[in-house]
Amino acid sequence: MEITSKKDLSEHEQVVFCRDRESGLQAIVAIHNTSRGVALGGCRMWPYATEDEALNDVLRLSKGMTYKSAMADLNLGGGKSVIIGDPRKDKNEALLRAMGRFLNELHGDYVAAEDSGTSVADLKVMAKETPYITGIHEKRTLDGQLRSGDPSPSTALGTFIGLRAAVQHQLGKEELRGLRVALQGLGNVGYRLTELLSRAGVKLWVADTDAKRVAAAVRKLGATAVAPEDIFRQPVDVFAPCAMGAVLNDTTIPQLQAGIIAGAANNQLAERRHGLVLKERGILYAPDYVINAGGIIDVYFEQTGFDEVKLNQHIGGIYDSLQEIFIRAEKQNLPTNVIADLMAEERFTRH
Ligand code: NAD
Repeated sequence: MEITSKKDLSEHEQVVFCRDRESGLQAIVAIHNTSRGVALGGCRMWPYATEDEALNDVLRLSKGMTYKSAMADLNLGGGKSVIIGDPRKDKNEALLRAMGRFLNELHGDYVAAEDSGTSVADLKVMAKETPYITGIHEKRTLDGQLRSGDPSPSTALGTFIGLRAAVQHQLGKEELRGLRVALQGLGNVGYRLTELLSRAGVKLWVADTDAKRVAAAVRKLGATAVAPEDIFRQPVDVFAPCAMGAVLNDTTIPQLQAGIIAGAANNQLAERRHGLVLKERGILYAPDYVINAGGIIDVYFEQTGFDEVKLNQHIGGIYDSLQEIFIRAEKQNLPTNVIADLMAEERFTRH
């Protein structure tokens, strides 16, 4: 296993590269900032065309984790890892175990969780080689049930709470009953969010590229099915993106009829300037890494001792963080994504 480390980076504390001929592993760990604690973030597996493309992604994603954990008030730093390869073809036990051994080389400065292209099962394989893995242990919930390490239920709960904060700020309503929400992506987070919204009396318009998921939401929750390309233009109060990134862009923003964007997807703005475009259209944007922090909060509580009451209290803090962002954005006449970044930067020390 060949390990090389880069330390002369402007923003990051450490970037470490691994090539393991035996297993075929080619991976990078980036540690952006550890001033608040150990760097924690997902391990992504993706068929990057070049190592440079993978490096750019891991640098960007690890930085994002510093901001997310700071805004979620967690004693965690920001880090991320990427494995270069196709998760459908190149993933096997030898490769995952090699990744585990690679993580040992960082001596716990970085702890990995699941991400796109990796599953809890994959992380359990890595954990045969390393203790620096989280989000894999079952948890006993208040009603006595065992829950897997998957943080999606907490992400959905946090997004629901954040959506309430946005509705309160923009529409002056504490109650969601009768609210109209268009939701894109009925996956692990999105489907759970529709259940929470439906229980609160919200009327739902839903889209997914997987017709079975849409059919389930129509049948079980009385949602209205919408074609994926039409979800942006629905006459609703809230648009909740819960599928992929870059969905708020020059093509989609002009279509929006919703006055609020509150969803779980990562990197919703195609470019930072789209935060300003939304503001100019009078649309309130709940910054993605603030509203979707339930997952990282969940993973943190797994690390430090699972207590569902404390976990839910901490997730409840997303409401206050968003309210603070919305108020500061108004006072300073700046987009909410810019204010969120400024607030996060006040909470960690640059090296
Ligand atoms: P998932 O893969 O389970 O669900 C994504 C869903 O989006 C799938 O049902 C997929 O079919 C659908 N989809 C894909 N393209 C679509 C399109 N063009 N139109 C409509 N639907 C489409 O993923 P997830 O875990 O639910 O995560 C959803 C988003 O939330 C992602 O952006 C993820 O990065 C982010 N996020 C997730 C968590 C978590 O705890 N899982 C935490 C933070 C952020």
